Amino acid sequence: MKPHKQIKDWGLGLTTPLIIAGPCSAETPEQIEQICKEMKEENMVPQLFRAGIWKPRTRPGSFEGVGEEGLKWMEIVRHHLNIPITVEVGNAAHVELALKHKVDVLWIGARTTVNPFAVQEIAEALRGVDVPVMIKNPMNPDLELWIGALERMYAVGIDKLAAIHRGFSDAYDKRFRNKPNWSMPIHLKREWTGMEVINDPSHIVGRRDGLLEVAQSAMNFGLDGLMIETHHDPDKAWSDAKQQVTPARLKEMIDSIDFKQPLENMKPDEKLQDLRRAVDHLDDQLLDILQERFAVIDQIGAHKREHHLTVFQSDRWKEVMESRTQKGVKKHLSEKFMKELLYSIHEESVKRQEKQLREAEPIKK
Ligand code: PEP
Ligand code: MN
Repeated sequence: MKPHKQIKDWGLGLTTPLIIAGPCSAETPEQIEQICKEMKEENMVPQLFRAGIWKPRTRPGSFEGVGEEGLKWMEIVRHHLNIPITVEVGNAAHVELALKHKVDVLWIGARTTVNPFAVQEIAEALRGVDVPVMIKNPMNPDLELWIGALERMYAVGIDKLAAIHRGFSDAYDKRFRNKPNWSMPIHLKREWTGMEVINDPSHIVGRRDGLLEVAQSAMNFGLDGLMIETHHDPDKAWSDAKQQVTPARLKEMIDSIDFKQPLENMKPDEKLQDLRRAVDHLDDQLLDILQERFAVIDQIGAHKREHHLTVFQSDRWKEVMESRTQKGVKKHLSEKFMKELLYSIHEESVKRQEKQLREAEPIKK
C-alpha cells in the first residue's frame, strides 16, 4: 500500500497514542471557553481539540451546527490551550471555510465516508493543500469504502492521513450505538501498512458507561489513539448529550487506561520470541492438516463425479457443522469462530469439487 506521513510527521508536534478531545458540537464561545478552562484545571489538555461545526444529523429539525461562526471560536482554544484543532468537513464549502480559519486537521465523518461523490468533492477541494485528514469508518462495515476514501485523499496529494474507528451501525445489536467490529480497524492496518487508526469510543458506545472498556480494548488491540467527546456540562449538550464526559472524567479515564507498548519499534523479548516460534510451528501443522484434508476432499469429488452426485449435500453439511461446532465449543472456541471457520473450509471444498466436475472430461454413459 501507499506510504504516507505518520501522525508524528504531521508537523504539529503530535505523538501516539494520540488523545483527541472536545465537544461533539461547538455551541457557544462560553461553552468552548469553559471546556478549555476545565481541561487546563484538570491537567487534562488533549493533543488535539475536536469540535463539530457542521453536524450531519440523522433527522432534520435538530441542531445542525453553528457553522462558520464556530470556526472563529477556535481561537479561544488556541489562546487557552495552545493546541491544534480539528473539525469535521462534509463538502467543498466546509473545506474552504475550515482552511480559511486555519483549522489544523480535518476529519471526514462516517455519513460522508459512505459516499464516494462527497469524498471526491472534498478531495478536489484539497488538491495541492498540505493539511492532515482523518477519515472515520463508513456507517456500514465496508473496508473497501474506508480504504477508498483514504485513497481518494492520497490521490490528490494528501499524504498526512489517519483513520478513525467509530463503529458500525447495526439494526439488531443494541449493546452499542455503533458496533465496534474490531476486525475492521485491524484489517485496515493490515491492508495499509503504517496507517494509524484512532478509536472513537464515544460514538461506539453512545453512553458514558462502557466508554472506558471500549477505549481499553482499542489500546489492547494496538490502535493508535482515542477521540473522546468532552463537554463541561454533558447533560445539557446540544448533541450527543448521553455520551459526552466532563474533562474531570476524561482525566480519570485516561489515567486508568493501560496504554500498551507498540511492538513495532522494539525487539521482542526471549519469551515472546519462543511463543511466536511455537505459533509458527503450530501454523505449519495446521497447513499440513488442511492440505491433507483437501486431498481427501478431491478424492470425494472424484467419487461424486463418477456417481453423478451433486457437490453440495445438505444433510452432511448440517451434520458436519453441528458436530464440529459442539466439539469446538467444548474446546473453548467460540461458536461464532467455529461457524466462520467451518463455512470457510466448506466453501473452499465445494468450490474445489465443482471445479473438478467442470474441468473433468465427461464420463461416457
Ligand atoms: C462526531 O464526531 O460528532 C460525528 C458526527 O461522528 P460520526 O461521523 O462518527 O457519526
Ligand atoms: Mn457526536
